[in-house]
Amino acid sequence: MSSNSSFSELALCTELQKTLQKLGYNKPTPIQLKAIPLVLQGDDLLAEAQTGTGKTASFALPIIEKLSKAEPSPDYRQIRALVLAPTRELAIQVADNTLEYGRSLNMRVMSVYGGVRLDNQVRKLKRGADIVVATPGRLLDLLQQKVINLKHLEFLVLDEADRMLDLGFIEPIKKIMEFSAEPRQTLLFSATADESIEILAEFYLNNPKKVKVNPRNSTASQVKQYAYAVDNSDKADVLSYLIKEGKWGQALIFVRTKKRVDEVTDYLKKEGIDAASIHGDKTQRERIRMLGEFTSGELQILVATDVAARGLDIESLPHVVNYDLPNVPEAYVHRIGRTGRAGERGEAISLVAPAEREFLKRIEGLIKQKIKLRPVPSLENGKLVESNASVKPPKKKRSKQKKNLDRYPPQEKYESTLSVKAVRPSLLKK
Ligand code: AMP
Repeated sequence: MSSNSSFSELALCTELQKTLQKLGYNKPTPIQLKAIPLVLQGDDLLAEAQTGTGKTASFALPIIEKLSKAEPSPDYRQIRALVLAPTRELAIQVADNTLEYGRSLNMRVMSVYGGVRLDNQVRKLKRGADIVVATPGRLLDLLQQKVINLKHLEFLVLDEADRMLDLGFIEPIKKIMEFSAEPRQTLLFSATADESIEILAEFYLNNPKKVKVNPRNSTASQVKQYAYAVDNSDKADVLSYLIKEGKWGQALIFVRTKKRVDEVTDYLKKEGIDAASIHGDKTQRERIRMLGEFTSGELQILVATDVAARGLDIESLPHVVNYDLPNVPEAYVHRIGRTGRAGERGEAISLVAPAEREFLKRIEGLIKQKIKLRPVPSLENGKLVESNASVKPPKKKRSKQKKNLDRYPPQEKYESTLSVKAVRPSLLKK
């Protein structure tokens, strides 16, 4: 099927076609083109696709199509499809999208995740659901308490399986598999594919068809990537400078630790920037509220640990910042997958302290792409201007010129950068 194919060429019923029209989905994305026919014909699937490629619809649409063909009993609905997701945010997002896709076909969709009261979820589950989207820990709890069962399961989706393994969910997944009815159709989606994913697939998939929409571990092509050489102690200042002088709209800022998330958020607020934070110590209610405000565009800057990396679905997030580079290079791919989504353009900016240069090298190795380390852009005529100067390894001695220079780029250890700016300012102009 060509990239110009329309949804009408996929064997989806009229109700689903109408829903897609209403949602403004004019044509299927590449993963949808590849995956939907295979799921419809009953194959197990091993799909390598990043977040932002439209992968949720690529499994949800054919599952809904197939479930809708068999009439569910009106009074009580057994769980016939289960989607396992690594984070609560992703579970909520996938459930919301699936509910939207299946509304016209009267699909009952529920999400199940930890951090909220169990009894409410139990009560809702008792009313029955066709499709459940769950994080592994809470689902296992419910299964072990015999509140729900998976005896009628026809479809099982492992969404963002690589992330679930990263987060140590292998044991709960194994146990959930033991609770799950067979035969069933199993679909495994992963942004990155490595040996552990292959092993998982070998174990739980039956003769799967493999599909892939992006080169292995590559980043979305519409995302421009910048890396700025910054000292750790200057990062907050540089970030505030970039947001203000770059006249940014919304941005998602990734910071390594919860404590640092709070510090950065406080700093930005003091600078008069509309910022809020989200991390694992926040209550589920706070997290949902912040995500809601950010998704609706009410909140400008969201500062987060990696916990937010998976579940956030904003169609045109213009900036993602790696305030700290992740030490696991795959996390970089997941993080910057938050921008440039569904065909939009985006910028991923990394603030790289001297100690993080090693991480940058590893990231470059993974994505097979060089991300040039540059000085922080300078301010010229009210606009930020990117420099093409390279940043050399930190020198021990300070140069004399340092004292007279602008505060950017940060001064501590990047004399080489500063000298370029001082001696040849024309280099910094476009
Ligand atoms: P996902 O990769 O599932 O997180 O989807 C990323 C975004 O793309 C979501 O906001 C979807 O609503 C949107 N999307 C999915 N499929 C399509 C499509 N065929 N056309 C336009 N937008 C889509």
